[in-house]
Amino acid sequence: MAELPQRQTDIGPPHYEKFLPPVIKKNYGQWSYHEVLSHGHMVHTAKSGDKIWTVRVASPRLLSTTTIYEMCDVADKYCGGHLRFTTRNNVEFLVSDEKNVTPLMEDLKKRGFLLGGIGDGISNIVHTQGWVHCHSAATDASGLVKAMMDEFADYFTKTSLPARVRIAVACCVNMCGAVHCSDIALVGVHKTPPRINAETLKNQCEIPSTISSCPTTAISPDPKTKSVKIKLEKCMYCGNCYSVCPSMPIADPVNDGIAIVVGGKVSNLRSNPKFSKLAIPWIPNNPPRWPEVVAAVKTIIDTYKAGAKKHERVGEWVERIGWEKFFALTGFEFKAQHIDNFTFARETFRTTSSFKW
Ligand code: SF4
Ligand code: SF4
Repeated sequence: MAELPQRQTDIGPPHYEKFLPPVIKKNYGQWSYHEVLSHGHMVHTAKSGDKIWTVRVASPRLLSTTTIYEMCDVADKYCGGHLRFTTRNNVEFLVSDEKNVTPLMEDLKKRGFLLGGIGDGISNIVHTQGWVHCHSAATDASGLVKAMMDEFADYFTKTSLPARVRIAVACCVNMCGAVHCSDIALVGVHKTPPRINAETLKNQCEIPSTISSCPTTAISPDPKTKSVKIKLEKCMYCGNCYSVCPSMPIADPVNDGIAIVVGGKVSNLRSNPKFSKLAIPWIPNNPPRWPEVVAAVKTIIDTYKAGAKKHERVGEWVERIGWEKFFALTGFEFKAQHIDNFTFARETFRTTSSFKW
């Protein structure tokens, strides 16, 4: 019997090999070295002598289809249709023919794209959904990142720092972003417990799943109101219950704000990967430009730039000088919230962002 053609489905991603530029496919696993030519482009050389040039631009992360079509048109014109998104949502145009590199860079500049993000500086800032989309956001993400990138754009396009500085934003502690392992990270924090609407809860929410959504077992049934109650000293304002039960809103325009954590990294170069630690527990939300947050991040970057050795990541620099000195140099106040005395969550194996005695 003749073999049937393989059916195309939308289950699972297509094999990545289908999308590799021919030169990468030809030299797969045989690349020798790369050279950073500027903050916006680099070249990789294979053992065979083949080369591929990468031109990197920032993306606004939440992209319109118009922008994506424009990027694809550019890739079609100069790169045989090949581009990729990095883990930090930079867009990389992959050029196999050297004569296309300069015209591509000129074209991207003319179209208003920001070239940069390669080498020792600030790469694109990753962020979560913020007020645009997510229900449990304690702060915005895109707006906050825009305010920061306007301030720090030079570190993306032309000015070097001692090492790579990865910045991330998560708009609540559920933390869909890479906050725990970024050099500088901003986390939206709620400071008040969810408000229970017993009237709507009994019709809107399943009580068992609402109770089990709480990681600290703070929620229990309230038979009197056919609803639930919260043991306040156990609540850590994570907002998990609101994800399950819309009758327990947690957003609070006055008390919600932003915490800053520093010193995380994924890389195992020179030192082990690290989790971030708390630098500032709370800064109020002040949209649309969040000047206090931008100023605090600038203080960290300036202090790091002035004191770190070449190739030293933020976490490595802080560990070398000591956290006490970090607080002294930045002028950030060490507060009660920096100490982890929360006894209701399970053992954290010292991976908490706060300091243990
Ligand atoms: S970090 Fe929190 S608020 Fe932001 S997108 Fe994720 S779950 Fe939603
Ligand atoms: S906010 Fe988090 S800790 Fe507090 S009751 Fe809801 S799920 Fe539990």
